[in-house]
Amino acid sequence: MNILQTDIKFVPGVGPKKAEILNKELDIFTLGDLLRYYPYRYVDRSRLYYAHEIDGAMPYIQLKGKITAFETFGEGRKKRLVAHFTDGTGFVDLVWFQGLKFVESKYRTNTEYIVFGKPALFGKKYNIPHPDIDACLSEDDRPEGLFAFYNTTEKMKSHFLNSKAMQKIIGNAFAILKEQMPESLSPDIVAALHLMPLHDAIENIHFPKNPILLRNAEYRLKFEELFFIQLNILRYSADKKSKLNGLVFKKVGLYLNTFYEKHIPFELTNAQKRVIREIRQDTASGKQMNRLLQGDVGSGKTLVALMTMLIALDNGFQSCLMAPTEILATQHFQTFSEWLSDMGVSVALLTGSTKKAERERIHDALQSGDLQILIGTHALIEDTVQFHNLGFVVIDEQHRFGVEQRARLWTKNERPPHVLVMTATPIPRTLAMTVYGDLDLSVIDELPPGRKAIQTLRRYEKKRGALFDFLRKEIQRGRQVYIVYPLIEESEKIDLQNLEEGYRQISAAFPEFAVVKMHGRMKPAEKDEVMQKFIANEAQIMVSTTVIEVGVNVPNASVMVIESAQRFGLSQLHQLRGRVGRGAEQSYCVLITPYELSADTRRRMEIMTESNDGFFIAEADLKLRGPGDLEGTQQSGIPFSLKIADIVRDSDILYRAREVASEVIEKDLRLEQPAHLVLKQQLSRLSGNRYEWGRIG
Ligand code: ADP
Ligand code: MG
Repeated sequence: MNILQTDIKFVPGVGPKKAEILNKELDIFTLGDLLRYYPYRYVDRSRLYYAHEIDGAMPYIQLKGKITAFETFGEGRKKRLVAHFTDGTGFVDLVWFQGLKFVESKYRTNTEYIVFGKPALFGKKYNIPHPDIDACLSEDDRPEGLFAFYNTTEKMKSHFLNSKAMQKIIGNAFAILKEQMPESLSPDIVAALHLMPLHDAIENIHFPKNPILLRNAEYRLKFEELFFIQLNILRYSADKKSKLNGLVFKKVGLYLNTFYEKHIPFELTNAQKRVIREIRQDTASGKQMNRLLQGDVGSGKTLVALMTMLIALDNGFQSCLMAPTEILATQHFQTFSEWLSDMGVSVALLTGSTKKAERERIHDALQSGDLQILIGTHALIEDTVQFHNLGFVVIDEQHRFGVEQRARLWTKNERPPHVLVMTATPIPRTLAMTVYGDLDLSVIDELPPGRKAIQTLRRYEKKRGALFDFLRKEIQRGRQVYIVYPLIEESEKIDLQNLEEGYRQISAAFPEFAVVKMHGRMKPAEKDEVMQKFIANEAQIMVSTTVIEVGVNVPNASVMVIESAQRFGLSQLHQLRGRVGRGAEQSYCVLITPYELSADTRRRMEIMTESNDGFFIAEADLKLRGPGDLEGTQQSGIPFSLKIADIVRDSDILYRAREVASEVIEKDLRLEQPAHLVLKQQLSRLSGNRYEWGRIG
């Protein structure tokens, strides 16, 4: 057995009880897992500070000196122990709130110690709460270099597994390892990139001798992490491509030409033309297309989808479009029906609320091939939906769908249809490479002409009067207004109350206008009715939750008011804002917040008022929140988590990893060469650990 597979309970200092906690809290089961539990930061312990140097902004420091006296203050739960400490240059208090007895019995006065901790200002005096205290070793024995810190949970701490204890057991793990940790990258890669060998990298990530070795260790481990993600994605997509013969759309025929010449009321943007060209090349190539189309809100992705469906139709194939919500599917259906009227194309809508008789009619027409384009929601995935010859699948607003669902649509034809995934959540390139690395990328980076940039304003909650005057003026000029309230599951009840309250308030403030409201709890038919009323401008104000977020298109609506804007993430704010600015009128987005905001939130609001650029906002979002929270990663169901690399900061390493991974795949798709065996093993080890690598797609 591989020594790295050793159960952690056998690591000295762990034992069954702590092992259980490490299993539960950190997913650490084996010696190997433990060694891969990386520190989150380091402190230089080679330098001694003087007490008179201390100021409040210092990180962790160490001092050498003596405790002059112990003193306890307070009673019961408020009790604290203070040790007065001096190094001859000044005084600090060492303070404990727990384990007082133990501390008092362990340390003596007038004995030289090394004290380590983070100084804090209390009253006018500096103190160090819960410091680490070591006997004062001779110069030679003192720990060299950088000292690692580990994230721990409350549960761990209550079982004596704090950062220092983690460091200790990781040290013990190293001691029982004896031999070198086996390399996980092939020797040619290690050599070509001058990477630190795995064993040294792991040692230096935990016990760095100096900053240069630490940096090399970090580079090595980050590279490895990103490399295997890329290797897997590339292997998977190359494999898929080599296996899957795509349907060939050779012809450009009557449908597309007629539509292009007679039915589009405007000129395509250059970006739209370019993307359609890219898709035409793909679909004629004989390989199956898997393409991600990114385009900011309002950039005209729907039209692109429609035109590619006509190419499929010209070649005798059916198409379908899957949207994340019923509202959106309905709207697409209406747009398509309108654009395709007089062209003799049959289009149908299938959603959860389609009546049984209609549903059966659709099923039959699909199977006979009479129905050419089907638009719908998740309902399209159901097994009862069978096509005659499905050639082209469009998935709108990708982030609402899981990977599984994407894959299930492919199986609806004997040979997999071409797939176009459209998203208005611009994904930074580095993230796209990591999450959607198997998809080819097209970008619409240009808005249709004549659009005025949306003006984004911030207003405080207390100043509604001026806002209402502004809204009234806009409505009198013929415009319509959205007012959006946050709604999250955890506080759903209160959120819905806020929405109702807001609705009442708005209705009372604007008696001369029709106000409608909408939220996710309403029945689809009700939502639809409300939506239709708003589209027809029978209602001038819509008060709603984020159900209107995705894709809804009412060009006459020019004002978006977002209540409690501080509760939304950047990407979501940008999505909401994209509901306006779709017509020729000047549009506005008003962000309503309280006065008091955290620094992060303030920054989010600033970014919104400064920029309309979805890509810029997505990058900023990634920086502020980290990829874990980013819309599109969590919801896409793609299982990747990074332990050490950061796809924003480490983009250079990511590109390098991608390069090296594609060289490997080009040479040896199945990883059969002896030198690549180690890569294959590592990949399968990674897939054993909760990743389902093989099924990404
Ligand atoms: P999104 O990319 O957000 O899905 P849509 O496809 O809904 O955007 O398009 C937004 C609006 O822009 C629609 O009303 C659409 O008819 C219009 N539109 C699309 N392409 C053009 C174009 N080339 N010129 C003018 N308007 C366009
Ligand atoms: Mg859209």
